[in-house]
Amino acid sequence: MGSFSVLPLKLEGKVVLITGGASGISATTARLFLKHGAKVVIADMQDELGHSVFKELDPQFTTFVHCDVSKETDVENAVNHAISMYGKLDIMYNNAGIARESQYNILDNTQADFEQVIRVNLVGAFLGTKYAARVMIPARKGSIINTASVCSIMGGLAPPAYTSSKHVVVRLMKNAAVELKIFGICVNCVSPYLVLTPMAKDYLKQYEERALNLYSNLKGEVLKPEGVVEVALFLGSDKSKYVSGHNLVIEGGFSIVNSGFC
Ligand code: NAD
Repeated sequence: MGSFSVLPLKLEGKVVLITGGASGISATTARLFLKHGAKVVIADMQDELGHSVFKELDPQFTTFVHCDVSKETDVENAVNHAISMYGKLDIMYNNAGIARESQYNILDNTQADFEQVIRVNLVGAFLGTKYAARVMIPARKGSIINTASVCSIMGGLAPPAYTSSKHVVVRLMKNAAVELKIFGICVNCVSPYLVLTPMAKDYLKQYEERALNLYSNLKGEVLKPEGVVEVALFLGSDKSKYVSGHNLVIEGGFSIVNSGFC
């Protein structure tokens, strides 16, 4: 039979930096990466929440750093923090995201709302990719994961800037995958459908019931954070070293049978 095995994932000793790690999907991500033996750097702009997540986890293998992903110096500093704490960075998980637009309609949205979402969801992923790549290139390996969304392949499920940012983050990932492949760095996206986190509840607002009906028509349940993290664990592990340039849409077939609700 030889020595080939599918499990376990090889994450022991790997260092992962998770942006937006204080809440929602990312807090679960931090917990599960830690459980699989990784060292975790949580980078978020919510200091109090970030510190409380950090304290709940194993302080020996977890650290928190303040970071607003839309600010270049903060992202550079977060990557430097990972290096100074653990000596390397194996996995960059660009996960911080917002959906702050007040309206689903293009006509009713403001330029300021639109730009703010793009700054966090798209510029944040660009900066995370840039500074992670700088330290991964000398190591000739690494995994960069961007959180996109099922909105990256569908319209009408979220406000316009959110949908736009998630679509373009996938194109950014494709560019990075091509550019960084010669250095042994894999770049991919994970694209979940609905997970009922504080952010999702905020952007769904009056559409929540309708959205839940749509989702439950298909699977009988909305996605749990763990369903997203399992894919991220694979992408962070050595088991995915030949996987790069992909948008892994985690939606149970939702996009095939639905085409939006607003
Ligand atoms: P969440 O609001 O629970 O968590 C987002 C985290 O990002 C928070 O801790 C917040 O403090 C942080 N954050 C916001 N702006 C930041 C900034 N400028 N700098 C650093 N951190 C910042 O939301 P979530 O649902 O867990 O979202 C995580 C990711 O998953 C986002 O990229 C989101 O777009 C994506 N996503 C979520 C869903 C869903 O249904 N919840 C679906 C698809 C994709």
